[in-house]
Amino acid sequence: MLAVLGSMKGENSREERRSKEEKRSREERRLIEERRLIEEKRLIEERRLIEERRLIEERRLIEENRLMEEKYFMESLLSVEKAKCKEFERLIPGFIARKLDFPTLSGFYEHWEACDECKEELSIQYLVREGMQRLEEGSAFDLQSELDQRLEEARRKINSHSAFLYLGMTMEIMVSCLLVWVFVWILL
Ligand SMILES: [Zn+2]
Repeated sequence: MLAVLGSMKGENSREERRSKEEKRSREERRLIEERRLIEEKRLIEERRLIEERRLIEERRLIEENRLMEEKYFMESLLSVEKAKCKEFERLIPGFIARKLDFPTLSGFYEHWEACDECKEELSIQYLVREGMQRLEEGSAFDLQSELDQRLEEARRKINSHSAFLYLGMTMEIMVSCLLVWVFVWILL
């Protein structure tokens, strides 16, 4: 009886040990799985951060490029404008002396209309050059309105020149039509 009891007890404790071991290994597996999940999450998060940083860097580069291009464009525009202003300044004496030919005068006037700085420059140079002359002559003067008249004169000259060109073109077309008509008339 005791022996049976003893062997039952042994059986029991073996059973217990086995279930304890099972429990422990289940717990271990759970822990391993948990750690794996945590590690996985960490990796995903890391990858997301790297990707995010990459995108931010990419956007920054694009924006930087855009700004550089804009800057170059503005600089080249400015240098073109500056060259035009220089040319305008160079032509001022010719304008005052009425010595500009038509295309030059046309360009000169066009820039005068568009550029405030050169407007001012022309006024100053006109006042200085003509003013000195008049002072020597001792005659009365209103140079600003004189300059306005000169510019108006230039504008009219440009307009009439354009009208003349237009008229010339119209005449040419009319003559061509007439020639064609004569030709057709002869043939018939
Ligand atoms: Zn200018």
